[in-house]
Amino acid sequence: MLPIVLHPHPALRFKARPLTRVTDLLHLQVAQMFGSMYEAEGVGLAAPQVALPYQLFILNTSADPDQKDLEKVVINPEILEKQGSVEGSEGCLSLPELFQKVRRAKTVTVRYQTLTGESVEETLSGLAGKAFQHEYDHLHGILFIDKLGTIGKISARGAIAAFEREYAIAQKKGDLPSNSELIARLEELAAQA
Ligand SMILES: [Zn+2]
Repeated sequence: MLPIVLHPHPALRFKARPLTRVTDLLHLQVAQMFGSMYEAEGVGLAAPQVALPYQLFILNTSADPDQKDLEKVVINPEILEKQGSVEGSEGCLSLPELFQKVRRAKTVTVRYQTLTGESVEETLSGLAGKAFQHEYDHLHGILFIDKLGTIGKISARGAIAAFEREYAIAQKKGDLPSNSELIARLEELAAQA
């Protein structure tokens, strides 16, 4: 498994690089990401959340490792069209236990590549549409806390500050490298995309 990084780790704000090739290492990293996602009981996980600065995310709207047919590996995604608007509760494995309402498109038409190099175009709504948009944002350094309304921002403020405090403490204790070291590592990995 790959450890999931928490807000405000710089990987979450680093613009992910499009993938130009699928290597054996990438296959391994994707398998590890599924392990991490299922352990955390999530329905989606983006590569930046495991400090890999790549345009890749995984989904399984059932969150059930036995339902392999629902697994999706999404590479270099584009959102071609958005329709409607709906507000729903969201959380994020990089801000565990924080849930807030976020407004998103009700339906999205998307295009992406799979691990086997196929190009897929599909229209998603419901949980699949919401999760796709949430993970897509991760590839652009956007978190769901950036999309909260005024009331949501106020109500999430304490929890967000607590994540930032914990992170600063971990860095001070040396449990986490400095941000400049983390960013240097991200740049190194991005160059290998
Ligand atoms: Zn997330």
